[in-house]
Amino acid sequence: MPWTATVRSASAGRAANAWVVGADVGATKIVAGLVDPRGRIRSRDRREVPPSRAPGAVTDRIAECIAACRASARSTPVVIGVGIAGQIDSVRGVVRYAPNLRWKNFALGPRLREASRLPVYLANDVRAIAVGEWHFGAGRGLRDLLCISVGTGVGGGVVVDGHLLEGATNSTGEIGHTMLVAGGRKCTCPHRGCLEAYVGGWAIEERARARARRSPASAKRLIREAGAVTRITPRALERAARAGDPFSRALVEEFASEFAAGVVGLVNAFNPRRVIVGGTVAEGFPEYLHRARVAVREGCQPAAALAQVVPSRLGPDAGILGAAWLARSSLAPRTALSQRG
Ligand SMILES: [Zn+2]
Repeated sequence: MPWTATVRSASAGRAANAWVVGADVGATKIVAGLVDPRGRIRSRDRREVPPSRAPGAVTDRIAECIAACRASARSTPVVIGVGIAGQIDSVRGVVRYAPNLRWKNFALGPRLREASRLPVYLANDVRAIAVGEWHFGAGRGLRDLLCISVGTGVGGGVVVDGHLLEGATNSTGEIGHTMLVAGGRKCTCPHRGCLEAYVGGWAIEERARARARRSPASAKRLIREAGAVTRITPRALERAARAGDPFSRALVEEFASEFAAGVVGLVNAFNPRRVIVGGTVAEGFPEYLHRARVAVREGCQPAAALAQVVPSRLGPDAGILGAAWLARSSLAPRTALSQRG
């Protein structure tokens, strides 16, 4: 019997009143929170991902983060939910492939369970974010929504007809790896020209550095803001653009237009009522949201073009609440994963 099934049969019935730890593991940071039965975060912790991104070191850091949440609150959680940037086998608790952490087939669930002495439920990070926004944030009450997160990578969660889509092998929502340019830039996945390879955090960092190297005179202000070409980051680009640097502003507009083009295709494909845009890069560059809003209105097929494009309401809490919700649902019958709108 898979270990999550054991958890499910042993713990069903306790789910409704369960306190749960939710954690969100990205490529650079880990946030976790202890969530009460009403979906309120009662204690939280945040840590950096170790620069090596080695599975063992990251596991230890996640366990520390979870332990800190548990130590600062009196109630005892019954399960831990972890959203992590990658393709997940939730039944075995295995991270199959996490390109931005450079992991393959790592059994994070069992390792964390050993460290925390609690059952652990793993999910894709953006799918957890989508669930958080769906139940507690900008998607509340809707039956059809698309949640897009632009951080180091680009991911998505898709709710259609009141169901969170999972797919044949649990990887629905890898929208960062839908194609933007045939034969284009090399991606971290085996493909080329993916949306993420143009507008994700790692990609805009590479592209901004390359442009600055090519036109150092025009990029003077950006280079000064970053300290050196090799130290240009999305944050430095954001600061220079906000300060009015024309070179940086033009780059941001270009990246935002490319993002918007990708969103048009996704809205045509999934026909959401609402598109929720979040993640550290999208929050730093509001142009992503603005361009997407206009592009959906003007570029989508008429019925799909009615989709509203809105910012995330929960920010970093979405991943915590969504992972906690999914973990709590793993204790109860499977139908808990759908919602009436
Ligand atoms: Zn890709």
